[in-house]
Amino acid sequence: MPEQAIHRVGIGTDLHRLVPGRRLVLGHVEVPFELGPAGHSDGDVVLHALIDALAGAAGLPDIGEMFPDSDPAYAGIDSGRLLEQVLQRVRALGFAPVNADVIIHAERPRLSPFKPAIRDEVARLLGADPARVSIKAKTHEGVDAVGRGEAVACTAVVGLGRGSTR
Ligand code: MG
Repeated sequence: MPEQAIHRVGIGTDLHRLVPGRRLVLGHVEVPFELGPAGHSDGDVVLHALIDALAGAAGLPDIGEMFPDSDPAYAGIDSGRLLEQVLQRVRALGFAPVNADVIIHAERPRLSPFKPAIRDEVARLLGADPARVSIKAKTHEGVDAVGRGEAVACTAVVGLGRGSTR
């Protein structure tokens, strides 16, 4: 497959506190764990960081402006639906995701076994080739809120090319 040109780049980050009684969903993949992200939506830090990266690349407002957490419509919502709405806006501007580089910051659980499933799911949601989606996981060596296991976070970069005419 020929290499597709990148016309725009965007970055996004997100962090949620970890609390009991919530499902841990990372990149639209449920990861078994005793804690999950506090938050208004499903708290999927990977998709939230990707949404802000897409928005940044396309010159759209940030996730909090597009989907206010004061709006009951977004309570407990599957963040995949939010990502789909943002992608529609990105495509309407004539762009399409080419690649995504994702770092998940979590002390626990161990994420290595889940990285392939997260990569495939993120690629599916973005409509990108899985070979152009990278999912990396890092611990924080026991320091700061992530390192103490109090929070999970994500950093994401997305490259946009010209959209297809599909
Ligand atoms: Mg969030």
